[in-house]
Amino acid sequence: MTSTFHPIDPAALERLHAILGEEGLRTDEPARQRYGRDETEDLHFPPQAVALPATPDQVAAVMRLASELRLAVTPRGAGTGLSGGALPVAGGICLSVERLDKIRWIDRRDLSCEAEAGVITGHLQRQVEEQGLFYPPDPASGDTCLLAGNLAEDSAGPHSCKYGTTRRYVLSLEAVLPSGELIRTGARTRKDATGYNLTQLLVGSEGTLAIITAATLRLLPKPATTLVLVIPFPALDAAAAAVEEIFLAGFDPATCELMEAEALRAVGEVMVLPPGLVDQEAMLLVELDGEVADELLERAAAIADLVESLGAGEPLVAQDAAEQRRLWEVRSKIGEAVKHRSVYKEADTVVPRKALADLVRAARRAAADHGLTAICYGHAGDGNLHVNLLRGELPLEEWASRRDAAEEQLFRAVIDLGGTLSGEHGIGWSQKQLLPLAIDPPTLALMRQVKKAFDPLGILNPGKIFPDS
Ligand SMILES: Cc1cc2nc3c(=O)[nH]c(=O)nc-3n(C[C@H](O)[C@H](O)[C@H](O)COP(=O)(O)OP(=O)(O)OC[C@H]3O[C@@H](n4cnc5c(N)ncnc54)[C@H](O)[C@@H]3O)c2cc1C
Repeated sequence: MTSTFHPIDPAALERLHAILGEEGLRTDEPARQRYGRDETEDLHFPPQAVALPATPDQVAAVMRLASELRLAVTPRGAGTGLSGGALPVAGGICLSVERLDKIRWIDRRDLSCEAEAGVITGHLQRQVEEQGLFYPPDPASGDTCLLAGNLAEDSAGPHSCKYGTTRRYVLSLEAVLPSGELIRTGARTRKDATGYNLTQLLVGSEGTLAIITAATLRLLPKPATTLVLVIPFPALDAAAAAVEEIFLAGFDPATCELMEAEALRAVGEVMVLPPGLVDQEAMLLVELDGEVADELLERAAAIADLVESLGAGEPLVAQDAAEQRRLWEVRSKIGEAVKHRSVYKEADTVVPRKALADLVRAARRAAADHGLTAICYGHAGDGNLHVNLLRGELPLEEWASRRDAAEEQLFRAVIDLGGTLSGEHGIGWSQKQLLPLAIDPPTLALMRQVKKAFDPLGILNPGKIFPDS
């Protein structure tokens, strides 16, 4: 693959240096090592150079040079991705937008804002909250990941079951094409029927079509109050079945998260679990939001009654903000806790919500058939379950072959259930060989043509999304 790109020779480095200055270009070994990884398994592909532009114009100038010299460029946010999208698999330049970190404006009256791609998602959320506003997309990595990665992956998080994923909030994008031209898609308006919707094409395009430098985002008024309910279940599939009932009954929770016993045990190894969460087979964490606290208490009681008939135990109810944070911490720590246990591969499965219990059974079967341990948890309200397959003590080759076989079996079952390959982490590098399971040949051919229209030289994020032929 690298043979189609030119290496960065000293003359090219000099030109990059002239564009980016001392602060904006790194070729030292620690930087190459650091920017050669993301949070996907234990993969590592060091780039030749790390570009850290501070303005959209610098991004454009780097891309003009890369186009002229046929250099591979891999866009990067904070490197928290879980499908290897930011790995510079073809070497070349890793272009991180982390220094494009300005919130350009927040317009309270218009419920919108414009922020550069390098803004940390949690920072934007806190800034808009200070004005009584709400930016709902909330990946569990929110205090480290950047809007850049959220936009490129169409990231979601617990709140997406009520509020939708990142794309629902994007009105307009500023981006740099592989040729180096700066474009502006969409408009600031709530409605826009003007030409092709390139904004929504770029959202979720995983850094393969253009480099996003800024976004205009829709905001909401912040709900006045929230309540968290943690409900224990005697079995994982009983908890999964309860999810369907909660939505069918019209409760419209802001979040509905599922955790199985093994996930809770793993978290118990990195923090002290609140007493009610010890030794439970499965849990649902349900958050309700609204304007009146008493109404939330009534809804919580009604949910508790409903799920009791499905075998649920007595729920923990938290109205107080500190107590809610303590319960959320358990959920947020699962990824870190699993990683602490073992190298793992995360399958970002997603099915229609009504098939969640079948998905849980299929995940268990796929892991058991190949002698692996699986830990399941995730955004049950979206039918989106993260199935973590653990390497444990297996030698590398055996792990790789068992993992791949289990994963393929699992995704075949997911597709039979009406689901698909990724709910929120993207295809990137690590899922691309499975893409033909979900996308038929003519559709895949059309996607390749779209890629070619944006990036005729194939220099932007090469080796991603499309399976090797
Ligand atoms: C502990 C943990 C919890 C997580 N929880 C969630 C969760 O709840 N929900 C969820 O959806 N994800 C979650 N993730 C995954 C990850 O955080 C998200 O995918 C996030 O959006 C990645 O953002 P990033 O800035 O780190 O992007 P990176 O990892 O740097 O990049 C991700 C992709 O975006 C592309 N990209 C980066 N910058 C640009 C740009 N400026 N223009 C175009 N393309 C670009 C890259 O090329 C790559 O393909 C979690 C990850 C971790 C480690």
